[in-house]
Amino acid sequence: MFPKAHLIQAPTPLHRLDRISADLGLDLWIKRDDLTGFAMGGNKGRKLEYQIAEVLRTGAEVVVTCGAVQSNYIRQLGAACAMHGLRCVAAAMRLPYEYGPGDYPGLSDQGGNVVLDDILGVELHVYEDGTWERLYEHAAILAQKERLQGAKVHEIPIGGSSPLGAYAFLEAGRELQKQGEFDWIVFASSSGSTQTGLTHAYAGTATKVLGIASDPEPEIAADFAELSIGLMELIGAEKALRADDFLMNFDYVGPAYGIPSPEGTEAIQLMARREGIFLDPIYSGKAFAGLMSLAQKGEVKGKVCFWHTGGVPVLFA
Ligand SMILES: *Cc1c(COP(=O)(O)O)cnc(C)c1O
Repeated sequence: MFPKAHLIQAPTPLHRLDRISADLGLDLWIKRDDLTGFAMGGNKGRKLEYQIAEVLRTGAEVVVTCGAVQSNYIRQLGAACAMHGLRCVAAAMRLPYEYGPGDYPGLSDQGGNVVLDDILGVELHVYEDGTWERLYEHAAILAQKERLQGAKVHEIPIGGSSPLGAYAFLEAGRELQKQGEFDWIVFASSSGSTQTGLTHAYAGTATKVLGIASDPEPEIAADFAELSIGLMELIGAEKALRADDFLMNFDYVGPAYGIPSPEGTEAIQLMARREGIFLDPIYSGKAFAGLMSLAQKGEVKGKVCFWHTGGVPVLFA
């Protein structure tokens, strides 16, 4: 429906987790978006297929975005830009915070995605820790500087959460519908295009689409509703979702966004030791910790799909 650059190998694999299914008394499956075959995997590859096509259509030469320094989006955007001869400029902070920095040990600004960004030629500008608003300002200033130097610039919001990004996950939901039927789909949710797209794909069905939040702010459901309006405008449909149409759980964020949690670390170890699969400490590990705990409470049951959104390079940060 929209122009698309080919980046990922789809459909991504879906398979059963036999050992953890037995442990939890669930019929548990995993959707392997960690195995997209693109730039070390992750959910951002799907969004980028549409977003890079859009950038190419506008004739831009430079893409400017922002994120946490260990952003998985910046890494995958960097790869997509490199493949198409575009410069990728990114504003980053080690720990952007809405309510002031915490006292917890966060991720390193070395290793992990930062190494990969460097290999890809991403122009990563790392600023002193501050608020998300401050980070967006840094990105706007970088974009303005490029424009003043005569470059044609395309700006992409944090995490690639645009209506096109949500559209990519509407399609991803349809991809899963061809692979199997589920009572629950559970995944890590943050900037919202994954959850917005999947929730649209399953709207009006019996399947429950549950985002385990990686950010502590319940207001993000309002942002998702806004994204839904953008998605509806894009595809010319009428009925957007409202904030309370999104099934979200905020109990497994741990200390803060971007800070590993003890439960998340345990979940990472369990998934590796029982199934030989790596999760990440910021998103998928926390989400899987949430899934296990909700399954133990009997709140999530039946045939369940855990959507692995990637992030594995962050294990090295
Ligand atoms: C970005 C990201 C998410 C969250 O996806 P959104 O569409 O931004 O909500 C989850 N997991 C991983 C590993 C990510 O990199």
